[in-house]
Amino acid sequence: MKKDINLIVEGKRIDGRSPTDLRPIEMKVGVLTRAQGSAEVRFGNTVVVASAYGPRELYPKFLQEEEKGILRVRYSMVPFSVDERKAPGPDRRSIELSKVMRLALEPAVFLSDFPKTTIDVFVDILQADGSTRVTGINAASLALAVAGVPMRDLVSACSVGKINGTLIVDLNGLEDNNSECDMAVAMMPSKNEITLLQMDGELDKKEVLELLNYAIENCKKIYELQKKTIKENYGSV
Ligand code: ADP
Repeated sequence: MKKDINLIVEGKRIDGRSPTDLRPIEMKVGVLTRAQGSAEVRFGNTVVVASAYGPRELYPKFLQEEEKGILRVRYSMVPFSVDERKAPGPDRRSIELSKVMRLALEPAVFLSDFPKTTIDVFVDILQADGSTRVTGINAASLALAVAGVPMRDLVSACSVGKINGTLIVDLNGLEDNNSECDMAVAMMPSKNEITLLQMDGELDKKEVLELLNYAIENCKKIYELQKKTIKENYGSV
């Protein structure tokens, strides 16, 4: 965690944003014809495609759960998504992020309505420039919704952090790599329930609460964009 590089100059960040600005966000659904549900989400230069399938009967059968379905999430960075080619295939980080994203999405899915089945979500990071897990959660939630998976709410996610002593929203890659602290938050906005809260670094209690408020406020903005994207394509949420 480097703190010696100055990424806030005269109150502005290196990409011209003020500390609490999100990057430009683009969302599309139905981007893949063969996936049951799919979505592409861009937060600045971070580009993610998520595809969702299910519920469908789970094989091999010993993996089935009698009382509920299971959700499987696979996070993956394509080799050309980062500066230096990333070796294809799972690594420790992608296994951890797959689990973290599953935990963030699970509370929103009516798994108990679909015993013995699986719902699968594939999150492919096409270009990484910070905050890929939260961008991935936003895309996965859209893909599940447009796949017709019954959900309590959409899941909306946002990153926040601290850099050069300033609290910021939606970290890009350079900011992430040089932050004093970063936090990933996912929530079901209409239920006001947080489904993921991860923090790396050190903050005092006041800063934690302030950052959490920024995250919630921006998750709600992202939620509105998600709903708008679905409505524009499918008429209703
Ligand atoms: P998140 O992407 O959710 O913020 P991390 O904190 O693990 O998760 O990663 C921060 C950023 O570091 C990523 O968004 C990406 O820009 C960069 N990064 C991650 N893994 C690699 C890698 N193998 N090579 C180059 N950059 C990477």
